[in-house]
Amino acid sequence: MDELKKIVSSSDNIVFFGGAGVSTESGIPDFRSSNGLFNEKYRFPPETMLSYDFFKSNMAEFYEFYINKMIHLDAKPNKAHIKLAELEAAGKLKAIITQNIDGLHQMAGSKNVLELHGSVHRNNCMSCGNTYNVDVLLKENRIPLCTCGKVIKPDVVLYGEGLDSDILDEAVRFISDADVLIIGGTSLNVYPAAGLINYYKGNKLVLINKSATSFDGRADLVINESIGQVLDDL
Ligand code: ZN
Repeated sequence: MDELKKIVSSSDNIVFFGGAGVSTESGIPDFRSSNGLFNEKYRFPPETMLSYDFFKSNMAEFYEFYINKMIHLDAKPNKAHIKLAELEAAGKLKAIITQNIDGLHQMAGSKNVLELHGSVHRNNCMSCGNTYNVDVLLKENRIPLCTCGKVIKPDVVLYGEGLDSDILDEAVRFISDADVLIIGGTSLNVYPAAGLINYYKGNKLVLINKSATSFDGRADLVINESIGQVLDDL
């Protein structure tokens, strides 16, 4: 912790890269973890039900799963979200790059949030491009339709879909320029996390995760603890 405090206090160019572990501490289940959605009784595993093919071919079932399992409007930012927003406001943190789609960083007050996998809070008509907030899904409780009559799709990257190249480019730029890169709440097994880290050129790579990751050997500092607890102790 002393080492981390030193690193953070001496930098004004920190970038944070966060995974599902940042959100699980707000009560949002990680569907990839063993006690997450993976074990639940659905017709297919989440990776199938959250794929673009399934969205196209089984739209009503997709929305039933998506609305029940992926939207957590009661969740509140935890200590990790709050500390990161404070570091940004203090001019120390330049960007948050997240794999989460829940919008909790923005709710905590963070401004520069790069959402690699999109956000449940944005939904777009697939035909005319009209945008809707998440309420449009909750009201309908079936396939949500635009006023133009066409289907509204969540602005969330489904399995089988590519990432937004502008957001990816921006993430690469922030990581390349970062003095400190803090990676938290991810085992780094999910694309494109591992690839993005390769763009970091500094010597202050900090990994904070409850369990060991395959990248621990490359990190300058590893803390196997809850991300919320560690950031709150800063
Ligand atoms: Zn439309």
